Amino acid sequence: MSKHIPISFEFFPTKTDAGAEKLKVVHQELQRLNPEFFSITYGAGGSTRERTLAAIAEFNGKGTPVAPHLSCIGDDKARIAELLDIYKAQGIDRIVALRGDLPSGQVGLGELPYATDLVRFIREHSGDHFHIEVAAYPEMHPQAESFDLDIQRFCDKANAGANAGLTQFFFNPDAYFYFVDRIQKEGVNIPVAPGIMPITNASNLIRFADGTGAEIPRWIRKQLATYGDDTASIKAFGHEVIVKLCERLIAGGAPSLHFYTMNTTDPTRQLVLDLGLA
Ligand code: FAD
Repeated sequence: MSKHIPISFEFFPTKTDAGAEKLKVVHQELQRLNPEFFSITYGAGGSTRERTLAAIAEFNGKGTPVAPHLSCIGDDKARIAELLDIYKAQGIDRIVALRGDLPSGQVGLGELPYATDLVRFIREHSGDHFHIEVAAYPEMHPQAESFDLDIQRFCDKANAGANAGLTQFFFNPDAYFYFVDRIQKEGVNIPVAPGIMPITNASNLIRFADGTGAEIPRWIRKQLATYGDDTASIKAFGHEVIVKLCERLIAGGAPSLHFYTMNTTDPTRQLVLDLGLA
């Protein structure tokens, strides 16, 4: 059994009433694992604004704190300020502050082009009310000018007032440990929670990884390929890989784990139980 560290769970806002009902059940089931918070994503440019607000309103006050994601690209300060005021009035005190990615074809960065600008704006507008989480990329953000500058950009977010980091998913724990070491050498000591992506479906995983710049190690790709459509074997293999990854992260000092649940209870629940983190 691993050392006990906090866990958090990420949801995305659903598109249909049926999806929203299903998510309520997932929320109840995962809440039993005693997470530190649930976070709800936000579509860049405000594309899920109403749905994110609805999901936050649904889960806020139901036991576990909720943290809305908020992205700045393509949004203006007035709309962001309005959201901050709504969340503050609802008693929410944690925000995940991101730049976001505009859908292809959409142009214009808006008044706050980078997440650092958003963190600075949140501090200007809401003072110290919010605990601010920001994104971290142990394997480098796909658009970063260089690895060193990407490290610097993360440190800029911390220096602008971010309290903690949540990483993009990854499968190589050394990338995470190296990232944390590098930011600490820059004098940044905020906690950085590894983002954990359960493996359940080979083609989805490859699609997510290609979209985010996360690397799927060759040995994992090859092993997944040998299973073809045998989903039971993919899930069993994926579970084993992620349990070992989490064990190494915890043993190496990860302060908490943030699970990309994909709005389902399992396999996240099984991972948390087997790691003894419930
Ligand atoms: P930034 O920190 O601004 O960095 C973006 C890029 O710009 C990096 O390459 C960085 O090196 C570079 N950069 C930063 N500052 C400068 C500068 N001054 N000059 C030049 N280059 C600079 N997206 C959503 O739309 N909604 C979500 O809810 C969401 N949730 C996420 C949750 C997590 C935990 C993570 C890891 C990502 C999430 N994303 C979400 C994806 C994220 O929005 C994208 O990865 C986006 O491309 C970058 O966002 P960021 O906040 O890391 O941006």
